[in-house]
Parts: sequence; structure tokens; C-alpha cells
Amino acid sequence: MTDASLAERESAALFHTYDRLAIGAVTHTEGCTIYTEKGAYLDLISGLGVNALGYSHPGVIRAIEEQAHKYLHLSNLYLQEPQIVLAEKIKKLSGYDKVFFCNSGTEAVEGAIKLARKFGAPAGKYEVFGLENAFHGRTYGALSLMDKLKYREGFSPLVEGIRCTSPDALESVVSERTAAIILEVIQGEGGIKVVSAQTVALLKTLQERYGVLIIADEIQSGIGRTGTFFAFEKLGLKPDIIVSAKAVGGGLPLGAIISTDRVAAAFTPGVHGTTFGGNALSCVAGAVVLEEIENGLMDRINELSSWFFGRLNELKARFPKTIGEVRGAGLMIGIECVIDPKPIHKALLDRGIITNVTATNVIRLLPPLVVTKEELESFLEAFEAVVEQ
Ligand code: PLP
Repeated sequence: MTDASLAERESAALFHTYDRLAIGAVTHTEGCTIYTEKGAYLDLISGLGVNALGYSHPGVIRAIEEQAHKYLHLSNLYLQEPQIVLAEKIKKLSGYDKVFFCNSGTEAVEGAIKLARKFGAPAGKYEVFGLENAFHGRTYGALSLMDKLKYREGFSPLVEGIRCTSPDALESVVSERTAAIILEVIQGEGGIKVVSAQTVALLKTLQERYGVLIIADEIQSGIGRTGTFFAFEKLGLKPDIIVSAKAVGGGLPLGAIISTDRVAAAFTPGVHGTTFGGNALSCVAGAVVLEEIENGLMDRINELSSWFFGRLNELKARFPKTIGEVRGAGLMIGIECVIDPKPIHKALLDRGIITNVTATNVIRLLPPLVVTKEELESFLEAFEAVVEQ
């Protein structure tokens, strides 16, 4: 099947919601490499932050195979050990008490909004605030939290009592009516922007003053990506609810709401639920990722990251007319471009390297957490050559 005819069939059969990378149809994958009819591509975006252990981790494949022989889907009518094993690992690595599994990031955000409202309802709390420039997903609760027109336009009316504000306005809009504030500690889609220490201090104050629940959206930044299990750990912030997805399922669809016993108790049987959430295959795959984290993966991330940031900052010093700020933590990296980054992205793709442009002027890197130093070296070489041009 040629690439052109596949593209025509896609155009005739699928909604036109995605711009596909012009690298042809994918034939197979291995480690951090994607193979297409056109060649091999080093993937530094890991399926949008999902494939933490790359594309063909033997442990993940074995776990899925073994589980597939036992059962695939059961529904949440049944006690399922894979859910329990994964939840126990999340508890151990996060220090939180309880986990609810769903299927995706946006679904975890919706569930967290519901949890915060249910928890706050006896005290008359219902407002939920998001912060400007964030991304929380495509469903109605998530959209209502966000300010970007590109996602919201044409979908009004959004959800009453859920809206976006700026950190500067927080103090004046938050009140006794506020159930929760949600934030991305490092904004991913928003251009790898780290929350300021000032905002963190204000969030802590509001948490104490009004009993507002803080929800950390760690869908992109969590599960070891920034060198700690969750990115908020570096900030001294203690969220009441954490939402996770992407890497938590080891390459299969999974989302999670993580919370303290105190807050989780607001969801009693039948109040919230899902047919597929906590699917056994996703849970066994996710458990392999968490095992690797238990076995020291984050030490490796931190070591690689400080070397890589150092090299990127050297390039920034050499090419100040092209490269702006280098931001992020661990292996969640944004290279701000002073010029339009799209030609750079395209030139990297022509050299067999997949990156991603976000927030119009940032080249985002979310490599698999198992990426090697040699693979990052090859990116640096290609990036330098492209920027030099
Ligand atoms: N929150 C953040 C920070 C994200 O990066 C994303 C997806 O990119 C989402 C929420 C939505 O997740 P999903 O696409 O799984 O619904």
C-alpha cells in the first residue's frame, strides 16, 4: 500500500482533525525509533509523552501478553489484581492514599472536577478555576478551565462555575465558594512554562485560607518525566488531588485520579465510575513503567537531563538570534525559538528526528525516558547543523 493511496483513503474515511507528520505510514517501531516506508525516525516526543519506556520494551510486551491470556476486559464489577498492583505502586511512589482509574487525561480532569465539587458541596463550594495558558483536555469541564480560543471557540456555552483566571487575579476571584484550582506545574502545550514561586506561594495561602483544593495536572509532567515522580515535588506544594494519564498506562490508554483518604471519601459507590477505566492490560503495562522508576530510572533521567540542558544552553549562547530560553525539567524540555520554529522542525524531520512545535514558538522535546545519551547527541548534532544553516 503506497503512502499516497493510504493518505487518500484516510481523507475519505476519517474526520479531518489531525495534521499527520509527513513521514509516511508507520510500519514498525523499536526502542526510541519509528520506522516508516520513508526510513527511520528518532522519536523525541514519545507518542505525546506516553511511551516512557520506548516502543517495544520487552517487559511491557511480556506483561501484556501474559495478561492477555488471563483476561482483557472485565468491567469494574470485578476485583482485578492488575489495578491493585498499579495503585499500590502509585501510592508508594507518591505518598498519596487512593487511586481511581479512568481511560484518558481529559477524563481524569473531569473526574477531579467532580470530586472537588462533591467534596466541597456540603460547604457550598462549586467554583473551579484553571490558570491562563494551560491545557487540560477536550471535554467540557477541561475546556471550561482553559483560555485558549483555539480550543474553546464554537463550543459555548461552557460549564457554569468553571473558568480560567490569571495568577495575578487569583486572590481577588477565589472565595469561600471556590472548590478547587487546577494547575499544570509545568505547562506542556503552553510552551514548557514552569509555574512561578510566587504563584505556588499564593496557591498554598488560598489552600489554607479557604480550604480550596489544589489539583495538580501531572498528565504530561508526571510519572518520572521531570526527574521526580511528580513535578510538584520540587516546589513544596502539596496538592489535594493529582491527575495522571499518558505514561501511567505504559503505552495503553489509562488515566488516574490520585488523592488523600480525606478527599477520596467524597466518592462513594456508584457516585463516579467508568466501564473501561483501569483496564487490566493498561494496568499491567503501567506497572512495568513504575517498576523501572522503583529501580532507579529517575536517577538516570536527572543525570542525562543536567548534561543535556548544559549542552542546549551552550547552543543558546552560540546562537542567540535563533534560540531563546531553554526551559523545563528532567526530560520535559522546551527550546524557545526567536525565529519561526516550523522550518527547524521540518529540517530536523528531514534528518530523521521527530520533535514537536508548541505554543507557536517552542520546540518541545518529550523523549522516551529510556532515550540514550547517543540518541540525544544525535539530536544535538542535527539541531546545531540546522540552526547554523
Ligand atoms: N492535561 C495535560 C497537561 C495534557 O498535556 C493533556 C494532553 O496532552 C491532557 C490534560 C489531556 O489528556 P488526553 O489527551 O489523554 O485527554
